[in-house]
Amino acid sequence: MVELKNVEVFYKDSGVDALRDVNIRINDGEFVFIVGDSGAGKSTLLKLLTNELLPTKGRVFVNGYNLSKLKKSKVPKFRRSIGMVFQDFRLIPDMTVFENVAFVLRITDKAKKYIRQRVPYVLNLVRLADRAKSYPSQLSGGERQRVGIARAFATDPGIIIADEPTGNIDPRLSYEIVELLLDINKCGTTVIMVTHEHDLVQYFGGRVINLKDGEIFFDGSIPMGGKSDEME
Ligand code: ADP
Repeated sequence: MVELKNVEVFYKDSGVDALRDVNIRINDGEFVFIVGDSGAGKSTLLKLLTNELLPTKGRVFVNGYNLSKLKKSKVPKFRRSIGMVFQDFRLIPDMTVFENVAFVLRITDKAKKYIRQRVPYVLNLVRLADRAKSYPSQLSGGERQRVGIARAFATDPGIIIADEPTGNIDPRLSYEIVELLLDINKCGTTVIMVTHEHDLVQYFGGRVINLKDGEIFFDGSIPMGGKSDEME
C-alpha cells in the first residue's frame, strides 16, 4: 500500500514547491499510471516513494513503512520491497541476461537452488527464456527492458515502480512493455508506471494520476481506448 498524506516538497535551492498538498492512496494490487508534463513533480513523487527524499510536510507510507520514521538500519529491507524499472534499463553490460537477473537474488542471499528455478521462471514470464545466455549489447531496446522487468520482479516485490520504462524503446514495442507490466500486476504486484506517453495511457486505460505544477490535477479511472479531458 502507498499513502501520501498532505505531502509538500519544497526545494530550498530552487525555491520551488515541487509537490503541494498531495494526497494519494494506492491499494495493494493496483496498476496506476502517473502522468504530467516536465517539471510537474513526477520524479519528486518517485523519490518520496523510494525514500531518496523526505517530504517537507506530510507523511508517506509505503509497504507498511512510515518513511519519515524509517530507521537507517531498515532502509535496505524497505528498498527490497520495491522493484525498479528504469528508462535506461541499467543492466550490467558484462553479465548475461541470466546473470543480470540472478545478481539481484544473490545480493539478497537467496539460495542457489531457488535462483536456479526463479531466474528461468521470470525470464519465461517476459518471454526471454531463449536469450538467457545473451549479453545486453546483443539485445534490442525492447528486449533489454524485458530483462529490466524480469529483474525487478525476480525478488517478488510488493510494488514495482517503472520510471518512463518505454522512453528509450521503439514506440511500437511500448505496448508490449505495458502488457508485461500488466501480466506482473495480475500476479498481485502493485505497479506504478510514470510516463508522458498519453497514447499509451489512453490505449490501456485504468487509473491515472495526472500531476500539474506539483498538484494532483486528475486522479481517476479512464476507460480502455478512452480519452479523458481531465487527463490533457
Ligand atoms: P518531473 O519529474 O515531473 O519532470 P520534477 O519532480 O523533476 O518533475 O521537478 C518538479 C520541480 O522541482 C521542477 O520545477 C524542478 O525544477 C524542481 N526540482 C526537482 N528536483 C530538484 C532539486 N534537486 N533541487 C531543486 N529543485 C528541483
